[in-house]
Amino acid sequence: MADMKIFETCNELTTYINLQGGKVGFVPTMGALHAGHISLVERARRECDMVVVSVFVNPTQFNDPKDLENYPRTLEVDAKMLEAAGVDVVFAPTVEQIYPETDNRQFDFGLIDKVLEGAMRKGHFNGVAQVVSRLFDIVKPTCAYFGEKDFQQMAIIADMVRQLSIDVEIVGCPIVRAESGLALSSRNMLLKPEYLEVAPLIYKSLSEAAALSETMSVEAVKSYVANKIEESKLLKVEYFEIVNASTFESITSFEQECNKRGCIAVYAGEIRLIDNIKF
Ligand code: AMP
Repeated sequence: MADMKIFETCNELTTYINLQGGKVGFVPTMGALHAGHISLVERARRECDMVVVSVFVNPTQFNDPKDLENYPRTLEVDAKMLEAAGVDVVFAPTVEQIYPETDNRQFDFGLIDKVLEGAMRKGHFNGVAQVVSRLFDIVKPTCAYFGEKDFQQMAIIADMVRQLSIDVEIVGCPIVRAESGLALSSRNMLLKPEYLEVAPLIYKSLSEAAALSETMSVEAVKSYVANKIEESKLLKVEYFEIVNASTFESITSFEQECNKRGCIAVYAGEIRLIDNIKF
């Protein structure tokens, strides 16, 4: 196989992709890669002729300037991991390449953008839709791979693709976890040791909650999770909701006939972690 290419400009990237042809698998990332990202890459590698990975910390999806500033950037190490995973092309553009002018596009995602992450991070999903639609326009992938770790983001992207009639298959991939159960995240590398030690409580509580839903009410399960996580003293639950996995409306009873997802955001000190589980 040819050496992995790294492009910083849209022109170089599109020229290269157009010359190759075949089925293009695309994995958009913000870098600081871990085994969760690599699982998406491996799936794309199995299913496509060419695998393109973008590494771009998108400013328009950060509602907190401090979070943007502190977001880990590790391009050299990322490139080594991607090469080892058999990636063909890394696209690591500057902000000017992605946004030659200010992107004022506003999307309307209805309720999906008003609850959970949408409620807590104003403008976040609009920024996600801006960057992913722009990247789709540049890369023109056949298939694009996203992690269920960002469950609500997947719904936003599916809706964005529908609204803009983009010809791409969106492929959802399961959450990759550390042995402790903690969902892998680029933000985990910012956790101080004492927080890293208690953070597995998040998934432990979610798993217990899913089992307790057989016998307990929605409200009781929600309190159970909040209490259990906050017993650690170091973790603070921002929200925990069990929603209809298609509409994102909160469910009030486990008897409701729909796919259900428990979604949580927790502060570990200054670092915000999210996770989710199927109910
Ligand atoms: P990010 O770099 O955080 O924007 O993530 C890039 C892609 O990797 C998104 O589709 C994420 O949902 C996915 N991803 C991040 N963490 C995980 C994980 N632990 N398991 C599976 N996919 C993940």
